[in-house]
Amino acid sequence: SDSRLVAPEFQSEDFDRTLRPQVLADFVGQQQARANLSVFIEAARSRKEALDHVLFVGPPGLGKTTLAQIVSRELGVNFRATSGPVIAKAGDLAALLTNLEERDVLFIDEIHRLSPAVEEILYPAMEDFQLDLIIGEGPAARSVKIDLAKFTLVAATTRLGLLTTPLRDRFGIPVRLQFYTVQELEHIVSRGAKMMGIGMTPDGATEIARRSRGTPRVAGRLLRRVRDFALVEGPGTITREVADGALLRLEVDSMGFDSLDRRYMSTIAVSFGGGPVGIETIAAALSEPRDAIEEIVEPYLIQQGFVQRTPRGRMLTPHAFRHLGLAVPNSAII
Ligand code: ADP
Repeated sequence: SDSRLVAPEFQSEDFDRTLRPQVLADFVGQQQARANLSVFIEAARSRKEALDHVLFVGPPGLGKTTLAQIVSRELGVNFRATSGPVIAKAGDLAALLTNLEERDVLFIDEIHRLSPAVEEILYPAMEDFQLDLIIGEGPAARSVKIDLAKFTLVAATTRLGLLTTPLRDRFGIPVRLQFYTVQELEHIVSRGAKMMGIGMTPDGATEIARRSRGTPRVAGRLLRRVRDFALVEGPGTITREVADGALLRLEVDSMGFDSLDRRYMSTIAVSFGGGPVGIETIAAALSEPRDAIEEIVEPYLIQQGFVQRTPRGRMLTPHAFRHLGLAVPNSAII
């Protein structure tokens, strides 16, 4: 699935950076999260204290990294970034932590992928701003405590369920990000088109927004591809027709689903009678990793009401059958 055009999981270089809002006021959508964060940031600043630890939860591409950067900028502190899989040993995390200054933000992406040994170091660091290290081995081993600067951990995860409870409990500010509305995405692509210096009609913006799977990173990627079509084959402006033609050629359908989304739904429909069918079985049938299906494919299909998670497995809804152009079986009517 590496080449999925609508795959939100991969960063797309320079364009991501130009689109990235720099301040909270420019960050579109996530109204409630923004409102709460701005209060907590203001309060921390006026008390000259470190902000409580923040946990961003949500599917890839919804703005977790962007918000983490904005938080540090609004606090006026340094931003240090790493990710769960990158921190191999407890010593790696210790090195990062001891280099932080008072109130700095340490961003750990994919925190659900930290190893247990590294998590052990993180608990006292988050709670008491102390490192507990064991130095030496065998009978000569002793434990030392090192005081750390009072920092803010900002972490992101696509899989809250994979976090241990003690880790989860140490975040004072948990923030769940939602898929964006079409209107919010219109705003984001219009701004992106302006920054790229390309003309776009309002219905051109709507067409891209509708087909971005509720995800700003996807919107940015589609915008870039549609722009190429508009420049090479079209009138040089992104109209609804240009956007529609380009997206169809890229196999992004009217709902914004791509070939993997459609393969997922048609496999459940055709091979498993619409479900219920277990995730492992679906993953095997698609030859795709289970994680990718759970993190990337399913959240949007569930949010759109095309798939349901039941105790006995995944089930397609009548919407999915109709979208695939298949007759709705009685078993799918709930
Ligand atoms: P995540 O960390 O959740 O995977 P990112 O923060 O990397 O997502 O965002 C992905 C892309 O989408 C970036 O290019 C970012 O600029 C853009 N983006 C995310 N949220 C917004 C938003 N609210 N407004 C504008 N652009 C956004």
